[in-house]
Amino acid sequence: MKAELPLDSQGRIRGKFIITCMKTIVFLLASYILPLLMVAQSSDPPAVKNSFSRVTSYEELSEYVQQLDRQSGLLKVKVCGQSGELRNIYEMKFSASEFGSDPGKIRVLIFAQQHGNEQSGKEGSLLLARELLKEENRYLFDKIDLALIPQVNPDGSEVNERFNASGVDLNRNHLILTEQETQAIHRIFDQYLFEVTVDVHEYSPYSEEWKLYGYRKNSDVTLGTTTNPNISQKIRRLSGEEFLPFIFNYLNDLGFSSFEYCPGGPPEINYIRHSTFDINDGRQSLGIQNTFSFIQEGMNGTDSYVENLEHRAEGQLAGMRGMLEYVYLNAEKIKKLVAKEREKLASGNSGRTISIQSEHTSNGQKLNLPLFSYYTGADTVVTVSDYRPVVRSTFNVNIPVGYLIPKDLAAWADSHSFVQSVFPGTEDLFIEQYYINGIDSIDFEGDMTVYPSVTVKEPNGEINFEEYIYLPTSQLKGSMIILALEPKSVLGLVTYKIYAHLLKENEVFPVLRVTKK
Ligand SMILES: [Zn+2]
Repeated sequence: MKAELPLDSQGRIRGKFIITCMKTIVFLLASYILPLLMVAQSSDPPAVKNSFSRVTSYEELSEYVQQLDRQSGLLKVKVCGQSGELRNIYEMKFSASEFGSDPGKIRVLIFAQQHGNEQSGKEGSLLLARELLKEENRYLFDKIDLALIPQVNPDGSEVNERFNASGVDLNRNHLILTEQETQAIHRIFDQYLFEVTVDVHEYSPYSEEWKLYGYRKNSDVTLGTTTNPNISQKIRRLSGEEFLPFIFNYLNDLGFSSFEYCPGGPPEINYIRHSTFDINDGRQSLGIQNTFSFIQEGMNGTDSYVENLEHRAEGQLAGMRGMLEYVYLNAEKIKKLVAKEREKLASGNSGRTISIQSEHTSNGQKLNLPLFSYYTGADTVVTVSDYRPVVRSTFNVNIPVGYLIPKDLAAWADSHSFVQSVFPGTEDLFIEQYYINGIDSIDFEGDMTVYPSVTVKEPNGEINFEEYIYLPTSQLKGSMIILALEPKSVLGLVTYKIYAHLLKENEVFPVLRVTKK
């Protein structure tokens, strides 16, 4: 077939038109087609490029996330904080519109590698980032705004160590927030008030104690829900009864073994529970703000480094991707529930009680725990009789209207962006002060922690309100504030070395309780 080419009045093909055509073709190639080819070539994460023979370095991660940012309009990468050794902590924000601006969207935060020697969280996050930029996953962002922090602890990661450069376990730092890395997470959370959060880790099942027992855990991916009894029961129920079965199926379909995260054991030696109810980790510190919050624990390699890295990273990817699928399918339900349960925190609950001491207890159920047998070299199931899945309160206090905290706690209050307000005056309110009669200790999940005996008194003499900051408990972080400030709270500030000075025998406790008359 003869092509219809434009001819000039002399019957010649118009040279200028051809040049224009060629220019257009070159332009199209340069601007659309070549970058597409380049994307296909260059968008593989660093670990994929080196066939998972080594972990992704900080430099490679920095380069890769910025490269993805340049390639996709869906993604914006921001530096959301810095580590102690001044490495960047990257926040990858995926949104089909302007992140956080559409109130109809559900906001999800996933953060990985608080522990530097748990490398697969980072590698899985980078696989997830590549995955989410694929056209077939675009639908997720009709409903979801996702912030992904692939590496919270770059300093620890570079030397494959659990702690950050100051030797701090970041996942025990979410209440006192002394570290820049944890401050970064909470700053982002406070900015967007994510409805769903996932903290990604690895567990190591290879201890000598388990070896002697003859078995070890062997699930590719484990997931834990919130367990603190002060977190909305409806949120905990949705997590355990609907989300967990969904994600276990999802993982199973993709060929990954999975189970509920259950530390403790070995069976017959120590009880099995569903992790701590402490609010100093990523999951519970966000969960206590009535967030649909989880911990994901992949299984580490024996050398905690590159062994089995590809499978570990893909397991983490599958867990995170499955979570996003569940959130997409249940977005309206989760959003509504979280909003309603957060409303309760905002309205205060003064006069009701809150649990400041709890214990892990049995509900009569036995646990069929999937384990790997060192004897047979195969997977098996062990029935655990000392299984304590329920967290039961053992000591409650009445919820006050607020606390007056001394000004030397101001920096801590600021790091959590607590709502601070003008003290409403004593007309309808009582001020109470604890007197510390003595300091004993109490078992907390196998460790001993400080435990004072106290008497509630009226403050001695006039209070100089200039020396205090008033924190009302009717706020999103109200439960967190109470758990932090009560001297008998086993999760309180006084259980940390840097705040041990608040507790002095035969002296008053410097934080004042404000209650209704
Ligand atoms: Zn960890």
